[in-house]
Amino acid sequence: MEEIEKLKRQIELEKQAHQQTEIILEKKALELYETSEQLQMLNENLEQQVKSSVDELKKTEKRYRHLIESVQDIIYKISTDGIFTYVNPVIKERLGFSEEEIIGRHFSTLVLPSYQEALINFYAEMVQNKEESTYNEFPIKAKNGNLVWIGQNVRRIENDDESIELVAVARDITERKKTEDTLRATQARFSNFISNLQKGILVEDENRTIILVNQLFCDLFAINLSPSDLIGMNCVSLADEIQGHFKDPENFISRVTEVLEKREIVVDERLEMVDGRIFERDYIPIFIEGQYRGHLYNFSDVTDKHFAHERLRKSEEKYRGILDNMELGLLEVDKNHKILRAYDRFCEMLGYTNEELVGQNAKELFLPEDEKGKVNEKQEEREKGEASSYELCLIKKDGTPIWVLISGAPIIDENGVTVASMGIHYDITERKLLEQELEKAKEVAEEARQAEKQFLANMSHEIRTPLNAIIGMTHLMFDTRPTNEQFEYLDILKTSADFLHSLISDLLDMAKIEAGRIEIHKHPFDLVGLLRTIQRVFQIKLDSSPVEINLLTDVKITGNYLGDDLLLNQILLNIIGNAEKFTEHGSIDVMVKLLKEEDETCWIEFKVSDTGIGIPADKLDLIFQKFKQVDSEQGHKHKGTGLGLAITKQLVELQGGSILVKSREGDGTTFTVTLPFQRSKNEVVKNNHVIKEADRSLESCKILVAEDNAMNQKYISSLLNKWHFTYTIASDGKKAVDKASKERFDIILMDIQMPNMDGYEATITIRNTKNPNQNTPIIALTASAMLDQKNKAFEVGMDNFVTKPFSPNHLLSVIQNYVNTKSEYAVMVPDEENTATKTYENNIFLDNERLTDLYGDDREYAADIFQTFLDDVLPDFQEISNLIHQQNWEALRKLAHKLKPTLGMVGLTELEQSLIGIENRAKEKPEYESLQYMWSLFQVKLAESVPVLRAELDKLLAQ
Ligand code: ADP
Repeated sequence: MEEIEKLKRQIELEKQAHQQTEIILEKKALELYETSEQLQMLNENLEQQVKSSVDELKKTEKRYRHLIESVQDIIYKISTDGIFTYVNPVIKERLGFSEEEIIGRHFSTLVLPSYQEALINFYAEMVQNKEESTYNEFPIKAKNGNLVWIGQNVRRIENDDESIELVAVARDITERKKTEDTLRATQARFSNFISNLQKGILVEDENRTIILVNQLFCDLFAINLSPSDLIGMNCVSLADEIQGHFKDPENFISRVTEVLEKREIVVDERLEMVDGRIFERDYIPIFIEGQYRGHLYNFSDVTDKHFAHERLRKSEEKYRGILDNMELGLLEVDKNHKILRAYDRFCEMLGYTNEELVGQNAKELFLPEDEKGKVNEKQEEREKGEASSYELCLIKKDGTPIWVLISGAPIIDENGVTVASMGIHYDITERKLLEQELEKAKEVAEEARQAEKQFLANMSHEIRTPLNAIIGMTHLMFDTRPTNEQFEYLDILKTSADFLHSLISDLLDMAKIEAGRIEIHKHPFDLVGLLRTIQRVFQIKLDSSPVEINLLTDVKITGNYLGDDLLLNQILLNIIGNAEKFTEHGSIDVMVKLLKEEDETCWIEFKVSDTGIGIPADKLDLIFQKFKQVDSEQGHKHKGTGLGLAITKQLVELQGGSILVKSREGDGTTFTVTLPFQRSKNEVVKNNHVIKEADRSLESCKILVAEDNAMNQKYISSLLNKWHFTYTIASDGKKAVDKASKERFDIILMDIQMPNMDGYEATITIRNTKNPNQNTPIIALTASAMLDQKNKAFEVGMDNFVTKPFSPNHLLSVIQNYVNTKSEYAVMVPDEENTATKTYENNIFLDNERLTDLYGDDREYAADIFQTFLDDVLPDFQEISNLIHQQNWEALRKLAHKLKPTLGMVGLTELEQSLIGIENRAKEKPEYESLQYMWSLFQVKLAESVPVLRAELDKLLAQ
């Protein structure tokens, strides 16, 4: 109850409190009411105010929103823990995400994983350090996966010192990044290029601040700083630092100033360093849009190049010096003769300046008309890449000629094509003038030589003619049974005349040898007999002297040999004659041995050793020269012409032999002659040196002698009287022709050189005019032994040739040879043809008529000729094959001409005609094939003829 009471009371209390409260409340409510009235009013005012400020705000917000939405940057807000709370719609455009897709995400989810951590830390720090704003760049991934570079400004928003959010303005900087990358790559490449460039590069701006430099530049000037250290430095101080490297630092500095002032490109400026290096420097000013913005220096170390160049220059200078000193003028011309380069010496040679020559046509400028052909030929050679030397006459600027020897060569490009040619000219004008003078002198000398030859020929004639008479008369006088005293005088007379004869023969021999007109006549001869005769001759000569002559012959030397015994005799007489002349005591040993026998050739060695004065070693070479005698120290004098050994050597060599001499002064001399001979089976005709009697049957024959020299007339008439011939003498050619026209003779002996009409002319007249002697044998008598005179005699129609002085027996044999034939004709058969068939009637191959004409019944002579033809002449025909093969037509013509009469002499008249055909054809520059064909036919016939000739020879020998 109490409780209730308590409660009642409490309720009461509460009721009271409540009532009081109600009262208070009522009061309050009233107050409130009054207040709310006020408030209402206030509120109404306020509402009015708020409304207008909300309107205002709405307007502002709209403006901001519009602003935010109209910017191209992404604007977003994130909470301090990185969650997007707001993003503007630009994000859709930039990254492809909608605002809904972004809001609520952590910002790092958009960032490339590799950047995430750094970025989270970056912004965490920003918040922590309460930084007001930051800027950062990083790549993010767009919705389509593309990489987008973002550059963003982030502002931290705080309230009551508490960070509440971050507001960011993010810009798409992908394009800029790309440009930057490209720029960086370009820059890297560029600086790579600069640093790798083998040149020192230095780039300065307009204020001379270094903006680029490479390592090589630092290396060149031994700068210890790296290129990047140098960038930004002022170049003036750098120049100060490096000037010490230059040989002339002051000049370096002043030159830099000068170059910088001018601002013109300078290339390859040479700079000498103090240590000997040589640099080359380029200066290139840099202008951008017409504005000077700095310059580039480019240094290179050209020391090696410089010295190589210097060496080259020096060497070129040296060669140019040599060329100038050697007086060699160089000229380069192109293919059209246009002058490309003319060197100083060449200009000097021709009197032009370099400028006057270069570009001109060389051919037109200084080549005479008649030399142009030669130059064209040379040009063709150059085009083929060939070099050659030749002489040319050029016309100098002053119009005078200059002779040059040119060594020309093509200038060939890398494709092997001749592009120009170079000629080295050597002035040979003086030599040319000298040559011309020499040529004139040679002509004069040649004239003199001709005159000398003529003189020699005349002298030979003038001397031989009287000599002939003297020797002839001596012969005749020996025949008149002289007293002992007369005999002795005659002997002296004959010896002197013989000496004179040998002297003149020597001179003539030499002339003949020199003119290549000596003939080798091969006969069978008795070698041992010849040697014994020589020994005997010298034994008689040495009779009263203490020198003895010994002859030692090899036992293998037996029988007869085929060769020119007269020439051998002459050779041995010369050598032994010298030995006799130069030996006062002791002996002369003649040793003859058979060295070897091969292919029918016997090589025989003749060794003549004396114990005479000998020949000094230094003179040994001289003795074989013409007119050379050794001057003996003892003043030894001897007679002689100095021709003997020269002739001997020539005669030995002409026969295919050799001659050697060995000597020691004071001890004696040995001459060794080696000569080839063939063995001969034929008998040797012995000469008995007694004037033969003429055949009595010939006494009736009549002879005409044409001779102008009285003494010779006498000599010949004495002989003819002795032989009981009938003769008439005509003292010149004219008279001879006259006599021949009136009376028939059996033979005419015709001198060549005669007044009024010479022997040739007389013969031509007799042969070509109607007279009884048109076919009479005419024998030339001449003092000249020259082969050309002999040939001429045959050409004009003479039958034979006798050289003065002739021996009586020789003349008789010739007369008998010709008269015999005719007498046989006259006595036995009146018909010439019948005579012809008589001796050679059985041989249908050979021209019997011709053979009878030639040999009559002299079978021995015929056999000799046949033998000679088969042994000696036949092999010569082989040479014709060679000459045809070589197409050496001139030599062929000569050989055919030489060989053709030999065919006639053995009765091969048809072959003789064929050979004449070949000879004629050879004159006309023939076709090789046609001549070869003619020659083949000839060879077949000749081969067929050989057995016939052999059979004929056997027959002749047997009879
Ligand atoms: P020559 O007619 O004058 O003798 P050669 O031509 O026969 O002319 O000789 C020339 C020279 O060689 C002689 O003059 C002589 O001086 C020298 N000579 C030749 N043979 C002998 C020799 N047997 N002994 C010494 N000297 C010789």
